Amino acid sequence: MSARVLPNYINGQWVPSQAHEFKEVINPATGEVLARTPFSTPAEVDAAVQAAARAFPAWRETPAVARVQYLFQMKQVLEREFETISRQIVIEHGKTLKEARGELRRAIENIDVATGIPTLMQGYFSEDIARGIDEIMIRQPVGVAAIITPFNFPAMIPFWFMPYAIATGNTVVLKVSERTPTTMTLIMELIHDEVGLPPGVVNLVHGAGEVAVGLIDHPLVAAVSFVGSTPVARKVYSRAAANGKRVQAQGGAKNPLVIMPDADPETTVRVVTDSVYGNAGQRCLAASLVITVGEAREKFVPLLAQAARERVVGYGLDEGVQMGPIVSAESKARIEGLIEEGVREGATLLVDGRGATVAGYERGFWLRPTILDGVPEGGTIFNTEIFGPVMGLMHAATLDEAIRLANRIQYGNMACIFTANGSAAREFRYRVQAGNIGVNIGVAAPMAFFPFSGWKQSFFGDLHAQNRHAVEFYTQTKVVVERWFKEWTREF
Ligand code: NAD
Repeated sequence: MSARVLPNYINGQWVPSQAHEFKEVINPATGEVLARTPFSTPAEVDAAVQAAARAFPAWRETPAVARVQYLFQMKQVLEREFETISRQIVIEHGKTLKEARGELRRAIENIDVATGIPTLMQGYFSEDIARGIDEIMIRQPVGVAAIITPFNFPAMIPFWFMPYAIATGNTVVLKVSERTPTTMTLIMELIHDEVGLPPGVVNLVHGAGEVAVGLIDHPLVAAVSFVGSTPVARKVYSRAAANGKRVQAQGGAKNPLVIMPDADPETTVRVVTDSVYGNAGQRCLAASLVITVGEAREKFVPLLAQAARERVVGYGLDEGVQMGPIVSAESKARIEGLIEEGVREGATLLVDGRGATVAGYERGFWLRPTILDGVPEGGTIFNTEIFGPVMGLMHAATLDEAIRLANRIQYGNMACIFTANGSAAREFRYRVQAGNIGVNIGVAAPMAFFPFSGWKQSFFGDLHAQNRHAVEFYTQTKVVVERWFKEWTREF
């Protein structure tokens, strides 16, 4: 029997897709086919957008304090089903249960922050800008927002956007990754059954690039929020902008992490390896290039190699597992190809994670932690996002040299420094061209009440995800200048 085809959620109803093309969603640890993602038809994309557009006027008129009541409800459901959803993330993505719980926690934190929208979207008012004249700034929603998300955080990334978009009075069409669509389908089922949002306020339409493009081009879509790889983010940005839409597009990364000789060995090694190998390296805030400064090379390289070799790899639902499989056979092959390319370029394979197996899970896409030492500056490994459990090692004589290397990377998502010296940390924070900085932190992921601030080739747009940036993105300002003279007052 073939696995279930995921339905679309349009206008408050679960609707089977009429698609002719599908993608199998595979548990990357067991090889089991979990579901099939339909590549929805243009008519289905249109139906989802039309439903969102029809729902917009009444939703916009619903007071913000009433709109956020649905978010409180959503939070309660996600808290209650926390374990079920976390397990679903593991099953379709492959990360460990602890990582899945962390991801879902961050999703819920974004709901928490978005419940503050009645305050966050307040405008302002100036009385008597001239005699008898007042000026008011009001925030109004933009309309229908399309949200397009990647495979690696199936629950969290939709929640970087959706709670803010609806709380500010917009309606939404969500297109999640065709590779990991079951988690959000489960969440939407819970929302449908228990939250009771008015039909059309949130719609989910499944598919791949063509469905995303259909949303970006649709004349009734006013704003596009995108997260994915840089080549796609760049295209989404220019296409949406050319269509006259608001757009925020977060892209890929190549995050440098600098270790100074005075860094604390125990915490640094633990935190650095967690950053490189957490989520099997499949996260945009994974450290990818580790740069030792001066004597740190001698001190840290053997410790990092040992930690990489000792990492427990297996099925994310099993006890004690520290790293899961790669999301797909194609991704695994791509990462292995990059490891070979690194060696061809002159790096030394200090730890080789290829050819890994996990007993009982022979059909899984396994790759163990890998280290390429002596990555040449400016080559493929220096410039390419690997998105897998591969640490590139480089060595710099001074902090100055390490900062120069960090700034030569085309991406600017995150950069971290490990040191006991405050002035080195300040210098790094001040000069490094990246939007998220860690000081003795390996994954500098902003909490939901801060913006997620990628720079350079990691971000296309102006306003980032989360909190006030999201409020600005999903609202447009209207300024009203009013004249009411006292002399005009009449008795009625
Ligand atoms: P991807 O670019 O392949 O896909 C992302 C989304 O874009 C998916 O929904 C996909 O269906 C859609 N898509 C594919 N082709 C498209 C097209 N031509 N036009 C419009 N949409 C299209 O990315 P992925 O492999 O799913 O995710 C991994 C990437 O996402 C990595 O590069 C990672 O760094 C990045 N990412 C970035 C952040 C961030 O905050 N900067 C966060 C998570 C992931």
